Amino acid sequence: MVRALALSVVLQLANAAHVPSMTLREAQHELSRVYHTIGVDVSWSRPDSSRDPFTIRVIVIEYETGELQHRPRTVMGAAVRTAEGTGVAAIFYRRVESQANQYAVTTRSVLACAMAHELGHLLLPNGFRDGHSTLGLMRASWDRDDFQRAERGQLRFEPEQAALIRSSLKGRGN
Ligand SMILES: [Zn+2]
Repeated sequence: MVRALALSVVLQLANAAHVPSMTLREAQHELSRVYHTIGVDVSWSRPDSSRDPFTIRVIVIEYETGELQHRPRTVMGAAVRTAEGTGVAAIFYRRVESQANQYAVTTRSVLACAMAHELGHLLLPNGFRDGHSTLGLMRASWDRDDFQRAERGQLRFEPEQAALIRSSLKGRGN
């Protein structure tokens, strides 16, 4: 497929949860594939002190912190912005592992989709509902069928959200 305008995102990945490197690499590859299907190229870099507001940090930690611990359902990640406007997708690896075990799917597929979901929150326009959809990758919580779709590489963005992500990336002059 030849695109006139390539949309791209640079992600800085920090593995602070001792995720096995193979699992992490496969999850990165799968996340890139999910975004490629909606016309967005993902490239990965090591964490640095860049203040480029278009660089997004993906931080994999063991467990959630603070008030996220008191949510009634399992939360596998969170998307936040720093005071400087940098997007941060935090992933809680032990929650990812336990969901993968519970639904008998691979950790890498759940990790990939959890990262893709939190990144989606950072790329969707502000104020788009709460960023969640009723179907697909951006559901607020996934059921057994969704985990199995994730395992088959079929848990994707709904077309409406894919279009919103593309237009918000175009809008920032990418
Ligand atoms: Zn969400």
